[in-house]
Amino acid sequence: MPYRTEIATPAGTSPRTLLAGGWRGEVGTRNACLSTLSSDALSLLKPYLTETALREGSVLWGMTKPSSDVYFPTSGLISIVLPVSDGAFVEVGSICSQAAVGSFFDPSDSYTQGVVRIGGRCICIPAQKLFLAAKQNSEIENLMNYCRHWILKQAQQMAVCNAVHAADARFCRWLFQACERMDTDTVSVTQEMIASLLGIRRTTVTLIAQQCQFDGLIQYRRGKIAVLDRARLRAAACECCNVLARQHWPSTQMLDANASKSCEQS
Ligand SMILES: [Zn+2]
Repeated sequence: MPYRTEIATPAGTSPRTLLAGGWRGEVGTRNACLSTLSSDALSLLKPYLTETALREGSVLWGMTKPSSDVYFPTSGLISIVLPVSDGAFVEVGSICSQAAVGSFFDPSDSYTQGVVRIGGRCICIPAQKLFLAAKQNSEIENLMNYCRHWILKQAQQMAVCNAVHAADARFCRWLFQACERMDTDTVSVTQEMIASLLGIRRTTVTLIAQQCQFDGLIQYRRGKIAVLDRARLRAAACECCNVLARQHWPSTQMLDANASKSCEQS
């Protein structure tokens, strides 16, 4: 039985109300997907972009909470989770600053939840505005397609991972991916949270973390894991790290597409 976790939206907050304050930063400089857009493409989006905090534990969308926004994280981590039983949730994908997530699909038919696992900030846009811009600009259309594909690719790979890969390899995979995607060697995460995301017992995670610490891969403090050797952590992780590696990130795909386009034009 997976560890039960409470996923609650902080009192008085919602994706829309979190947008108070509006956009004040340099658009596209901190989300890797937005930063690949040309000034023409970005100008179509800029009037509708707002910046907001990603508060740890906030539910951005869910079955009983449809959202009409798309989120471009600039820091932090958003988990895409599915309920399994008695309030437990298992992760089927995660999004950091290399991608976007939210109302890419029919929001009235959402069977997933988007939960902020590690707090940060993000840039938001109403999905309809993004869809309209995509009809006018192929870069934005490509961005949406790459992000949709990334979400589906992760969900498919997680189905394999959850079915056949060992718990310790999955623990290392989750931690390695969090470090790589957020470009950090310290992750603020509890053992309860990892147990819930992986659908395994908290006691199992404790044993795995102890072994990883003994092996010199990590150093665990309450609520924080410091990765001491990322290369060895990857070696201890399951093969999903390769399938979901950097070259498959939406931002990397967009950079590659831009490079190909430049070569064709020269
Ligand atoms: Zn795996």
